[in-house]
Amino acid sequence: MKLSKFIRRFIFLTAFSSLLLAFLISILYQYNNFENDMVHIKKEFTEQKKKEVKNEVLMVYNLIEHKEDLLKKSVERRLKEKVNQAYGIAKNVYEINKDEKTDEEIKYLIALALKDLTYENDNTYFFINSNKGQAILFNKEIKLDKYHDVWNLKDNNGNFIIQNQSKIALEKKEGFLMNTFIKPDSNDTKQYSKLSYVKLFEPFNWHIGLGEYIDELREKNQNELLNWIASLRFENSGYIFVNSNDGKTLVFEGNIVDPKPHPFPELMNQQIEAVKNKNGDFFEYKFKKPNTTQEFDKVSFVKKYNEYNWIIGCGVYLDELDNEIKRKEEMFKKTINNQIKSMLIIFLLLAVVIYLLSKRMSTFINYNINSLIQAFSKASLNNEKINTEELTYKEFVSLADNLNKTLENKNMVEKKLQDYIQIVNQNVIISTTNKEGIIIDVSEAFCKVSGYSKDELIGKTHSLVRHPETSNDFYKDMWNQLLSGKEWRGEIKNKSKDGKVYWVYAIITPILINNEIEGFTAIRNNITNKKYIEQLSITDELTKLYNRRFFNNKIEEEINRAKRENKTLCLLILDIDYFKQYNDTYGHQKGDFVLESVAKVLANKTNRASDFAFRIGGEEFAIITSLEKDKTIEFAQLIKEDIENLKIAHKASEISKYVTISIGAVSKMAIEIKDSDELFKEADDNLYEAKKLGRNCIFIQ
Ligand code: GH3
Ligand code: MG
Ligand code: MG
Repeated sequence: MKLSKFIRRFIFLTAFSSLLLAFLISILYQYNNFENDMVHIKKEFTEQKKKEVKNEVLMVYNLIEHKEDLLKKSVERRLKEKVNQAYGIAKNVYEINKDEKTDEEIKYLIALALKDLTYENDNTYFFINSNKGQAILFNKEIKLDKYHDVWNLKDNNGNFIIQNQSKIALEKKEGFLMNTFIKPDSNDTKQYSKLSYVKLFEPFNWHIGLGEYIDELREKNQNELLNWIASLRFENSGYIFVNSNDGKTLVFEGNIVDPKPHPFPELMNQQIEAVKNKNGDFFEYKFKKPNTTQEFDKVSFVKKYNEYNWIIGCGVYLDELDNEIKRKEEMFKKTINNQIKSMLIIFLLLAVVIYLLSKRMSTFINYNINSLIQAFSKASLNNEKINTEELTYKEFVSLADNLNKTLENKNMVEKKLQDYIQIVNQNVIISTTNKEGIIIDVSEAFCKVSGYSKDELIGKTHSLVRHPETSNDFYKDMWNQLLSGKEWRGEIKNKSKDGKVYWVYAIITPILINNEIEGFTAIRNNITNKKYIEQLSITDELTKLYNRRFFNNKIEEEINRAKRENKTLCLLILDIDYFKQYNDTYGHQKGDFVLESVAKVLANKTNRASDFAFRIGGEEFAIITSLEKDKTIEFAQLIKEDIENLKIAHKASEISKYVTISIGAVSKMAIEIKDSDELFKEADDNLYEAKKLGRNCIFIQ
């Protein structure tokens, strides 16, 4: 994958997935918040609703209290006013009569004056008691004629009525008190709630009082309140209910009902239990909604109004909370949907922007990388260093630096290699041929030593430099070895373009491809100098023939070769006749010339590869060849004649006018030869015989 493509994909995918993740996290976060909100809202809603019903109950409670208070206040005002009027009357009667009449008479007059003084109905009347418990005016009757003790009179609730009244009169002079008492004009003995006002009448240590039965007023008041309560509604299905503490329903499901036992005693007990808290309390239950048969969770607050023994309550259905939550959920879903929509649009826009940005970045990177690749290609093509100043990024510069170093090394190595090749080319005689031996390539050194140009050599065979003296057998052997796939090593005598001899030591190696010979490579060492020295050591300086030392080696070699090949070997020993006399006659220098001239003849007669001529002593020569006996005589004869035919004057010779030679010859099958010494001795003996025969002749056995 291209780097730019990878980077583009990487940026795009990273940014895209980050956005997606952020988006999902945001939704999740909001959902979590919503969940928390819901718990909070549920709690708050319940609290709020509870508060509302509590307030509703307290409002009704306070109103009842207020109305009751108003009722009491109006009664109290009336009682106080009337008692003060009665006190005024009693005081007047006392003041008018105190000097003329007895206390008993005045007491009677006062009791009489107040006895029939009533208001509104007969149940409102004045009473007078002494502060020590004697009834004066009691139940509209004057009790002065006999002592009527009411000190220990108690009402239904166990209150000491007269004692409480006396206590108020003595301690506060006047005041109110509540108790129950029978109605004088009623036939029953039932006691009714009565509010009284008493005032101290100092002259006789009495208290004068007036009481009003408030139960009727209260009943009226209560009916008004119940009607009002029954009409109250709040929210959808809210209403106030009223039950009496003894388990009877007064206002049920928002309607006034005749007092009757509550239809759900269990629920009633729950309420009675809750109102034991004097501040009121909540309780939870299931209850059907008005106009339905279905039951719902409900929580209600109840508080008891002690004066009436009423339990006032109000409840709320908690399913309304579920509706509220559903509504909020809908709202939340709507918000989230809207958010998702707008987020999606933003998301798409961002994705497009990110895509464009990543594409632009990828193009930019691509451009830079392409420049780098171009710079690298150029550098590797031309082996030139990259100009790092043209590169944009540090990493690229570092890469280029490394390549530059590699190039530098490569160039250095190549230069060295080139130098070596040059050295080899100039100094090592190398040639490469195809399998037919046609030259394909040659080194400069080859051209130099052979004297031919490259063009002259390529396309030819090595026979161009072949020396005529080298035998065909030599080359035949060489080719046999090479064509069998083996390397060939050996010394080769060559001839340069200008005819000069040069010697090489050659290593010729077949080039094998898949075991098939494709050609040959020859590496040669110029050994001409070595050969020259070698030649010198085996050459006689004067005659240029091989010397005695070489003869000693060669005779052994040739005997062995002849034995190997089962051939005839022939040894001729030649000696110039009367040479001492020649030197004596013509001088030593002329003698040397004779030696040279004789040597030339011998050299000419031994131009075959298997013929060798030697100077083995002062004026003694030897020839090794491989001729049959007859041919040997012919050959020796020719030599003898050629020398005589040189016509070198030799007046001191006793056999001829010219310089002559005597020849001792041996021609034998190799198998007959014992060793070199014996062969030599035989030839030498024959020479001796030739001398004995008179010289200028050949002796062979
Ligand atoms: P014969 O016919 O029996 O061979 O008699 P000869 O005189 O040739 O033989 P001899 O052995 O008595 O003499 C050989 C002479 O060769 C002696 C010497 O002066 C001469 N000689 C040997 N070496 C050289 C040389 O290098 N140069 C010259 N000029 N003469 C040499
Ligand atoms: Mg001699
Ligand atoms: Mg001699």
